Amino acid sequence: AAKAAGRGKHCFFEPSMHSEASDRQRLETDLRFALEQNELSLHFQPIVRAASEDLCGFEALIRWDHPTRGRVSPDLFISVAEECGLIGKLGDYVIEEAIRQAAEWPDHVRVAINLSPIQFNDPKLVEKVATLLQTHEVRADRIELEITEGVFLADNEATDDTFARLKNIGVRLALDDFGTGYSSLGYLKTAPFDKIKIDQSFVRGASHPKSRNSAIIRAIVALADSLGMDTTAEGVETHDDLNLIRELGCSQIQGYIFGKPSPAEDCADMIERDSVLPQGHRSVREPRH
Ligand code: C2E
Ligand code: MG
Ligand code: MG
Ligand code: MG
Repeated sequence: AAKAAGRGKHCFFEPSMHSEASDRQRLETDLRFALEQNELSLHFQPIVRAASEDLCGFEALIRWDHPTRGRVSPDLFISVAEECGLIGKLGDYVIEEAIRQAAEWPDHVRVAINLSPIQFNDPKLVEKVATLLQTHEVRADRIELEITEGVFLADNEATDDTFARLKNIGVRLALDDFGTGYSSLGYLKTAPFDKIKIDQSFVRGASHPKSRNSAIIRAIVALADSLGMDTTAEGVETHDDLNLIRELGCSQIQGYIFGKPSPAEDCADMIERDSVLPQGHRSVREPRH
C-alpha cells in the first residue's frame, strides 16, 4: 500500500507498511549475503532483427535464486540495492560477467548490459568497462549499455562527460524503457544514443484495434529514425503484436515470442543458427528446401 501511494509522500501509517519496511530490511541483509554466496547469475534474452530474424545479440538480465524465497524479481531487489548502497558491487558483478560471456560468443553477437543511474555516476565506470574489454579481448561495439531516463534527473556536467567518454571507448548506448520516465525530450539533443528501447507498456497489446499504442510507437520510430538511432520493441509476446511492430518499422524485437531470458548455455542453438524463430508461428524467412 505504501508503494502504491508513491515514494516520499506522507500518508497515514498502515500495519502493512511496517511489514513492508521490515521485509525490505531483510531483503537487504540477504542481498549482501547473496553477493558473497554466488546466489546471483545472469540470464540472456535474444534481441532479433525485425526484418530478417537474424540474431543481434542478448540482453543480460540478473537473476537471484534465494535459498528460501526462490527467485526474487530484479524490479524489487535492484531498487533495494540502489537504496542500501549495494548497487555498485552488484553492478560490477553484472558488467564483468556479461563481458566475460561476450568473450565466449562469436564476434557478431552483442551483449546488452543494464546500468543503474547510480552506476552511471560512478567516476570509475568508464575505466572499469575499458579494462574489462581489454582483459577479455572483446570489441567495444559488441557491448551495449542500457540506461534509463533516470540518468537525466540529476542533470549535471558529469553526465555529459560520461557519455562522451563511453562513446570514446566505442561501446554502444541504448535508452531503456523509453517514454516511461519523468524526463523531457531535451536530452535527445545531445546524448549520443545508438538505440531507443520502446517500453513494453507501449508494445503489449498494441495490435488491439482500440489501442493508442500504435500511434505512440509510430512516433517513437519516426523520432529515432530521424535521429539515426535503432529501435527495439520490448515485450513482444503475440503474433499480432509482432506483425504490427514490423509494420511500424521497428528495427529490432525482444520478447517472449522469440525467447525468454535463459542461462548462457541455452543460447548456443540460437547463436549457431544465427537466427531466432518466433515461437509456434511462421517465420518471415523463405522456407528452406
Ligand atoms: P528491462 O531492462 O527493461 O528488461 C526487460 C524486462 O522485460 C526483463 O524483466 C525481461 O525478462 C522482461 N521481458 C522481456 N520480454 C518480455 C515479454 O515478452 N513479456 C514479459 N512479460 N516480459 C518480458 P526482468 O529480467 O524481470 O528485469 C526487470 C528489470 O530489472 C529490467 O528491465 C531492468 O530494469 C532491471 N534489471 C534486470 N537486470 C538488471 C541488471 O543486471 N542491472 C540493473 N541495473 N538492472 C537490471
Ligand atoms: Mg534493459
Ligand atoms: Mg526495458
Ligand atoms: Mg524495465
